Amino acid sequence: MTSTKTTTTKPAASHKTSEQISSKLAYLARALKTPTIGRVWEDLANRARDENWAHEEYLAAVLERQVADRESAGTTMRIRTAHFPQVKTLEDFNLDHLPSLRKDLLAHLATSTFVAKTENVILLGPPGIGKTHLAIGLGVKAAHAGYSVLFDTANNWITRLATAHHAGALETELKKIRRYKLIIVDEIGYIPFDTDAANLFFQLVASRYEQGSIMVTSNLPFGRWGETFGDDVVAAAMIDRLVHHAEVLTLSGNSYRTHGRRDLLHQGERHNQDND
Ligand code: ADP
Ligand code: MG
Repeated sequence: MTSTKTTTTKPAASHKTSEQISSKLAYLARALKTPTIGRVWEDLANRARDENWAHEEYLAAVLERQVADRESAGTTMRIRTAHFPQVKTLEDFNLDHLPSLRKDLLAHLATSTFVAKTENVILLGPPGIGKTHLAIGLGVKAAHAGYSVLFDTANNWITRLATAHHAGALETELKKIRRYKLIIVDEIGYIPFDTDAANLFFQLVASRYEQGSIMVTSNLPFGRWGETFGDDVVAAAMIDRLVHHAEVLTLSGNSYRTHGRRDLLHQGERHNQDND
């Protein structure tokens, strides 16, 4: 008996037409809620036939595409719910402009392990140096790594806490905020807090201590936080908790905003000279 004969004489009980397979796979992909599989199985099957993939290889390729799509959908969702004022990336950040930024430390922070370890990040430096950009960029990295992130300005955080406090629901609110693995508090120091606000902010920091990460940006060095919090004791107690497990990046240099303007200015000068 030749092998050809064996295959032709065997009843094709399990052989289905390609339409039947197609509709069955479409049904299964829907039932499993795996739309990517429904979309890619056919093209990959053709490739698998052309390139003689093993069955296992084909299965892995199909599943891999589904997992990749699911992960990227999760990342997109986490970036959307983080409420970044704008999406900025570390890749868009010009490191040459900021020699005071330790590149090894930035690379370490970009791995998001600080979030897993519930450590904090503090970005200090003058206006326009890139603190908000870096905070968003690191937040985006954390979202990619699978961590939930929530961004807001210090002022908005205070408003949120004050509203909850007045409604007698501060604890509930702090608990809700603790669901985020990383919160970003932008612009501490621009607007001074009154005593109530300072106390609320202290409670936020205390409630996350060793439980969730906080990233803060400030134009003021720690020594001047007392001015913002209206009270050196509250400021010191808060800084103490904030920096206990934290990376502090103190940035110095020229504002990126002015640097851009200076370039324009020079272009203008050159232009004027050309016209002279
Ligand atoms: P800060 O929060 O320290 O005041 P920002 O992060 O808002 O500064 O930076 C001001 C502007 O300059 C933003 O549009 C930001 O994207 C841009 N910027 C700052 N530093 C850099 C840099 N090193 N590379 C690219 N863009 C930068
Ligand atoms: Mg800023």
